[in-house]
Amino acid sequence: MRRKLAAGNWKMNGTGAALSELEALCKSHPDASVDILICPPATLLSRAADTVRGSAVTIGGQDCHAASAGAHTGDISAEMLLDAGATSVILGHSERRVDHEEHDEDIRAKACAAMDAGLKAIICVGESLEQREAANTLDIIGGQMSGSIPDQATGENLIIAYEPIWAIGTGKVPTLDEIGEVHDFIRARLERRFGEGVGRSVRLVYGGSVKPSNAAEIFAVSNVDGALVGGASLKARDFTGIIQALESV
Ligand code: PEP
Repeated sequence: MRRKLAAGNWKMNGTGAALSELEALCKSHPDASVDILICPPATLLSRAADTVRGSAVTIGGQDCHAASAGAHTGDISAEMLLDAGATSVILGHSERRVDHEEHDEDIRAKACAAMDAGLKAIICVGESLEQREAANTLDIIGGQMSGSIPDQATGENLIIAYEPIWAIGTGKVPTLDEIGEVHDFIRARLERRFGEGVGRSVRLVYGGSVKPSNAAEIFAVSNVDGALVGGASLKARDFTGIIQALESV
């Protein structure tokens, strides 16, 4: 049985004042039947880790460097995330692939570093609108998976987020059939590469305009084990609605 996951990506949003939302989220979830993860900006990680202590909420990073230390101004290593209280790190988000020109091989190296440090790597894959319209979605996802997932992946250290780029922050969502097709494809690819045991144990979450109002129907799709949520994770009330939908699947 794969444990469900509701993950929130705060992106470059939030100063200390935003911790009140995290505090409210923790109060609503002293325990939970699903995993709850919030990935705040790096500046809030330590304070966020203090805030969630004793609750069902855990904390993650939004990126890490592939090296463990060194002359990399402005970067953060996986060990540093762990030291700050993170359990997980998002890697290869489409905004990093675009804004920072990250390629699959960079993401693979970062994922190796994260896994070596003891973090769970949440590797994001997803197609652009042009790629979907050209019927290339599965080729793109397959290529991203081969290029960015390290051989050392297991159900413990890897989570895959399917995030169609055109659905992120736009309010547009693929049909449930489209989500199911991609998630089934990812599952089959994982089983082919890693064997049934590992392939079936990796959690697959969907991301792209998930809200309390559409979460339940998305969570009912086969091979959807939860969500990676941007905008709707910023407010405790919205994110709680999504968590409750996941708990009732
Ligand atoms: C994201 O950025 O990972 C995301 C899914 O954003 P949103 O939920 O705002 O579409």
